[in-house]
Amino acid sequence: MDLHIQQKVFLISGGAKGIGEAISRCIAEEGAFPVIIDPSEIEGKKLTDEFAAKGIRSLHIAKRLSSPSDAKEAVEVAVKVFGRIDGVVNNAGSNDGVGLENGTPEAFRASVEKNLGHYYDMVHYAFPHLKKSKGCIVNIGSKTAITGQGNTSGYIAAKGGQLSLTREWAVELLKYGIRVNAVIPAEVMTPLYKSWLETFENPNLKLKEIEQRIPFENRMTTAQEIANTVVFLLSGRSSHTTGQHIFVDGGYTHLDRAL
Ligand code: NAP
Repeated sequence: MDLHIQQKVFLISGGAKGIGEAISRCIAEEGAFPVIIDPSEIEGKKLTDEFAAKGIRSLHIAKRLSSPSDAKEAVEVAVKVFGRIDGVVNNAGSNDGVGLENGTPEAFRASVEKNLGHYYDMVHYAFPHLKKSKGCIVNIGSKTAITGQGNTSGYIAAKGGQLSLTREWAVELLKYGIRVNAVIPAEVMTPLYKSWLETFENPNLKLKEIEQRIPFENRMTTAQEIANTVVFLLSGRSSHTTGQHIFVDGGYTHLDRAL
């Protein structure tokens, strides 16, 4: 299926590693131009070099989105280089384990700000360009916003906020023809996930236990499977889909895990 997104410009926060990397690759494979906003210098350069070798334009903005001015600058650079923005994928985030027992009010606020602030900032600064292009927005959430996890209040509050903002922005932006959706992963092997697994005494055993609880095929979701859904939502092939929370998780969140 041709997604008809050739030469469109999409911004991906955290687009150099893990799920974001798969999204950047998928966008490039469809002939669109990924703008990767990610502090990872080596991975970002490797990706843009790889795309250039295939004749695909792309841009790596080596930046961690930590304040509104970072998002403003990233949007300005993207527009300067490409002249337009057709979509924003809010993806960057990390499960930083600031809980009730082990956290502090200050650490909680910092975690919410770190995981939620730049989702708003990116859309705020890209908005005039999305209005012109009738673009779209995809927020990457987490099943933890629905199921809870324990010991990670800040991350969960941010993930819940992202899902609420998906609905809120879908409503606010109806009049501009801008669609807004969320894609919700559960268990995807990425650098972030690997480092979390390594905190267990026997990471392989832990992984096997997790895989057994994933109803569909008892396996992890691949980053590519998340990316495929994201890129479909970025394309006109999903032209009447907005305000949706789409779980790409092998049934992990909603099916009976005791099956
Ligand atoms: P990852 O492996 O850590 O990759 C994320 C990338 O984003 C890294 O390159 C990271 O750089 C970068 N990044 C982090 N904060 C950033 C910021 N403020 N500005 C720009 N770049 C930033 O993570 P992932 O597992 O792919 O997760 C991606 C998204 O999926 C997150 O929103 C996460 O909550 C969500 N998710 C993942 C899973 C899963 O199973 N993996 C499950 C549910 C939800 P550094 O490494 O330098 O920080």
